[in-house]
Amino acid sequence: MVDTLTSPYFWGRGYTNDGMHKAADFLAAQFKAYGLQPMNGNTYLQPFSYPVNTFPGKMEVNVNGKDLVPGKDFIVAPETRAVNASGKLDQLDSIQYINRKSMVVFKMQDKLTWDVAPEVAPYSLILVDKKAIDDAPKKFNVNIENELIKDFKTANICGWVKGTSKPDSIIFITAHYDHLGGMGKDTYFPGANDNASGVSLLLNLAHYYAQHPQKYSIGFICFAGEEAGLIGSKYFTEHPLVPLKSIRFLINTDLAGTGEEGITVVNATEFPKEFAMMNAVNDEKKLLVKINSRGKAANSDHYFFTEKGVPSFFFYTLGGIKAYHDVFDKAATLPLNEHEHLFKLIIGFNEKLMGS
Ligand SMILES: [Zn+2]
Repeated sequence: MVDTLTSPYFWGRGYTNDGMHKAADFLAAQFKAYGLQPMNGNTYLQPFSYPVNTFPGKMEVNVNGKDLVPGKDFIVAPETRAVNASGKLDQLDSIQYINRKSMVVFKMQDKLTWDVAPEVAPYSLILVDKKAIDDAPKKFNVNIENELIKDFKTANICGWVKGTSKPDSIIFITAHYDHLGGMGKDTYFPGANDNASGVSLLLNLAHYYAQHPQKYSIGFICFAGEEAGLIGSKYFTEHPLVPLKSIRFLINTDLAGTGEEGITVVNATEFPKEFAMMNAVNDEKKLLVKINSRGKAANSDHYFFTEKGVPSFFFYTLGGIKAYHDVFDKAATLPLNEHEHLFKLIIGFNEKLMGS
């Protein structure tokens, strides 16, 4: 599943080549194939939209006469505007170089980390890996195209398995399926750890629970718009498809692809009883080497649920590869060493939540 979600067809599950839309359709079809019921009337989709700056076209950068490779040697800051220019660069500070006429800025970086922006800046900022060029940048030639989409349309994918005796109590399992998408015609960010790994775990759990209904209803949401600022999960909490009070607990997973050093649980200190339950399962079944406790944090899709009073955990795996928001976050190098243990941990934790 991680191979599939990170394939070029889905183009980084973002804003160009229809990547996020294809991923949404694929996930809804998976939910249907497993036998989940749609949560939004007769559809799995909960549509919403937001503005985003995108890079569907040219992405050419030459510095000191050398063509740089998109993604590997450079990225453009997500708010970058289109530019077709060449010329000389003046040093601005120890890491930045500017051409004032075209408002092109080069910034030297130790690591390239991409992101998503909702607007276009009055400049073009190009982040260059220090290892890509030998000397300070002196002259440049760039041709970059952008397209601001004021109303990018996407959807959360929502399904559930109705509970056998207490269907009005719901346990949610959530993971964002969007990633950063593509930068230019030839480069995309696969997002294997972030968050094809979490979506794959969610799908395995959805498949399992569809075949093994529980006392409580078990709901599944694949959120969109996470990388653009938790937009999909915020939208769900403002337009909930079930009463938020009926959510007994929400388990969000994001970055689930490693784990040789265990996991960290955000909100552990907020819900000590449940955190003890999770540790009890882990100790009984001998799953992960360590479960770290962390307080509240606005770092993934659990956040707006927590703020609305929904009890929730967000866990992420620790150890292993360090690729993050870059072109190296690939399926081939993702270890997935704790995938089965994470699956068993959640099944066991949910059993305890339901008091069985
Ligand atoms: Zn993520």
